[in-house]
Amino acid sequence: MSFNRDARTVSLWTPTGRVTVSYTGRPEDLKAVDALPVGEADLICRRGVWLLQVAVTLPKPVVREPVHGFVGVDQGVAGTAAARWVLRRLSGREHRMMTDLNQRISTFVVREAERTGRGIALEDLQGIRARVRAHRLQRRTLHSWAFAQQITFTRYKAARAGVAFVLVDPAYTSQACPECGCVARANRPARGRFVCTRCGLAGHADHIAARNIATRGIAGWAAINQPHATGLPSARRDRESKPPDSTSGS
Ligand SMILES: [Zn+2]
Repeated sequence: MSFNRDARTVSLWTPTGRVTVSYTGRPEDLKAVDALPVGEADLICRRGVWLLQVAVTLPKPVVREPVHGFVGVDQGVAGTAAARWVLRRLSGREHRMMTDLNQRISTFVVREAERTGRGIALEDLQGIRARVRAHRLQRRTLHSWAFAQQITFTRYKAARAGVAFVLVDPAYTSQACPECGCVARANRPARGRFVCTRCGLAGHADHIAARNIATRGIAGWAAINQPHATGLPSARRDRESKPPDSTSGS
């Protein structure tokens, strides 16, 4: 395979000899092929259309220091029994819709963090697994691929955009008061509602949880970036986190 970028043609060695064909693609993909080192490629025929999937090497962006704190994302992992039941019954088509939704949510969250000079904090699924080990009935759904996928998407998009990303301990994010620190089951008098029994702070439970996650994000980021800091195990930077090595163009 060899590219003639000026002519937008690619020359391919095939069993019947060399074939030179012109190529096109999304503007961002064409730009990538023009500018970046090209690696391996797969030639695919899909419903009679030939696609060349080309891997390009992206430069690793520098992660910027978040100047306005963190965006906390409450995934609502401990959702209602009804929500869990629905998730378990998703069909293949619904799985694809969920994937599409996760793509859009992660894109939105990363853009919002980028725009506002913030990092992104998500709940660490590993923590959730450890915490619910006793509840066998819930386990399968809490492990659900949808939450893991949301983390994966957000992580690589954040890395690509140079946005700080941390995973935080999800314990009691919905029972803790972000103002006074009081943690109590009684802070949740009704579904969806948060009222602090100590200081009276009230609000929507999901919003409160997101605030707690954002605060833990700040602490976690600080712990990661102070080499000798101890006692702040509440966040775990994803050390494997790196931008994808490649992107595809057709
Ligand atoms: Zn309070």
